[in-house]
Amino acid sequence: MSPNGFPATVADAPRSVAPSVPVAASSGLPLADLGGGHAVPDDAQLAQLLSPRPVSHNEQPAAHAQDHAPFYFLQQDVPAKPASKAFGSNPVTSGSQRGTSDWFSNTPSPAGFGLPSEAELIALLKPAQFGLPSGSGGAASSESAAPYYFLEHSQASHSAPSVKHGQHASPPSWPGSHAGVGTARPPFDVNVVRRDFPILQERVNGRQLVWLDNAATTQKPQSVIDRLSYFYQHENSNIHRAAHTLAARATDAYESARDKVRGFLNAASSNEIVFVRGTTEAINLVAQSWGRQNIVKDDEIVISWLEHHANIVPWQQLCAEKGAKLRVIPVDDDGQILLDEYAKLLTPKTKLVSFTQVSNALGTITPAKQMVEMAHSVGAKVLVDGAQSVSHLRADVQYLDCDWFVFSGHKIFGPTGIGVLYGKEALLNETQPWQGGGNMIKDVTFEHTQYHAAPGRFEAGTGNIADAVGLGAALDYVNQLGIENIAMYEHQLLQYATHQLRSIPGLRLIGTAEHKASVLSFVLKDHKTEHVGAALAREGIAVRSGHHCAQPILRRFGLEATVRPSLAFYNNCADVDKLIAAVRRIQNGQHAI
Ligand code: PMP
Repeated sequence: MSPNGFPATVADAPRSVAPSVPVAASSGLPLADLGGGHAVPDDAQLAQLLSPRPVSHNEQPAAHAQDHAPFYFLQQDVPAKPASKAFGSNPVTSGSQRGTSDWFSNTPSPAGFGLPSEAELIALLKPAQFGLPSGSGGAASSESAAPYYFLEHSQASHSAPSVKHGQHASPPSWPGSHAGVGTARPPFDVNVVRRDFPILQERVNGRQLVWLDNAATTQKPQSVIDRLSYFYQHENSNIHRAAHTLAARATDAYESARDKVRGFLNAASSNEIVFVRGTTEAINLVAQSWGRQNIVKDDEIVISWLEHHANIVPWQQLCAEKGAKLRVIPVDDDGQILLDEYAKLLTPKTKLVSFTQVSNALGTITPAKQMVEMAHSVGAKVLVDGAQSVSHLRADVQYLDCDWFVFSGHKIFGPTGIGVLYGKEALLNETQPWQGGGNMIKDVTFEHTQYHAAPGRFEAGTGNIADAVGLGAALDYVNQLGIENIAMYEHQLLQYATHQLRSIPGLRLIGTAEHKASVLSFVLKDHKTEHVGAALAREGIAVRSGHHCAQPILRRFGLEATVRPSLAFYNNCADVDKLIAAVRRIQNGQHAI
């Protein structure tokens, strides 16, 4: 322990899933006008907004003891868990954040895509702490000086998985959005949030890790790691079967995770949430079940040029099997969907449209709501690939009105090997299962099998129970931070990084859509992408270089590969500055490559 009573090292730190959200003093900066009446900070303002402020003890928010939610059966047999600290719903929520929803949640405002107004941006940014070490140009980290914001000294991590049951209970909604109810929390402090991710302290090739490969996978907060460990120490059993205590605990934990996903996606019922291995499996499930049962010769399936191979190959396979046709929506030179061209592709032959909400190769945010509406107008079903969007934007399946929505746990701070297929309940129930086996049946004779209703009918065999529980903990974590805060913070960081990268001679950004999330694909003149990736890795900077499993969209830009840094909310300006400095060294030939 340090003299001030805070843990001296990360290892000493008591962990909680409930990061505090200290409300900082206002920067009060006026914001530059970007045109159209919308405001974003200029460079000087950004630097000031992103500069750090030490967290003081006085800013510890009042914590409310909250009981662990009861298990739905055999509660009395569960070992007593200490009351966990959970920070109550935000008392600061007000009209000040109204309007940002349209922009981040991909919700068309009356004027199309709505940027927040100047007043709204100021209100949002005033209290933000974005973790640029002041005066350091970002090279040094101020993390070591930042105190922990939670003080649960006595809590043994394994005895209290940092899962705040009930935090997810209210359906997500953006202030000023279609849901009309503000749920915004005060912004977070990136320096303290980073402490929840132990791997960010890892040293790689003699340097502290800079993780900028978030589009490939995200790092895990301690609360998720603890939750997995707790499951295996106290709850592990197969589910839904044996009438014993651990089966009850495991079943409870698994079904509780399903309900967290329901809340996170704002699905109408947890029956609409099917656990699968990941996005790839979810898309294959739809192709191999609904697709096989409903697509016939000469039907058309529409995808976009932006798609990951996981949202191309299963449809290609289905088309080959059925004699159906794959149609592709083109994009413009910035990587934006050409809606007019999309409209031309939609005909009564279109049976399915499947597209990504955020492109993994370019970062483009697609106008998902509008695209779903257009597909429905010709009677097509719609699948939205949320693999790259869920960790950055509000995902509200009822608002989007998509028929299926898919994502992977590992891209939203949860474990690998677990993912989600959301489907409208009636649609899931009229679809025949794709795999048969245990768990998914009501009754079996040698002549006939009766299936469960959804989701059970799509979860044959023993699923990935522990990792589903871990995914629930990850969603709790994201909910605690607040997706609005995440989106706003990441947007500013993306702007900062884009601006810095653009200043490097010979660097070409690939994907310059007006609405983007996380991804900064680029190529560097006279340098092979794999060499750039390797040179960055030697400095402890992890980025992806290659085709990102999205060859068609890269070829659209005449490329086979790019270097792809991608941001998450635990990245800060120091990370970006290290990347920029290293790329400059590579460009200047100062790097042995
Ligand atoms: N779709 C998109 C947009 C992706 O980015 C990815 C992963 N890169 C996938 C699908 C496939 O996800 P997974 O490998 O987790 O199944």
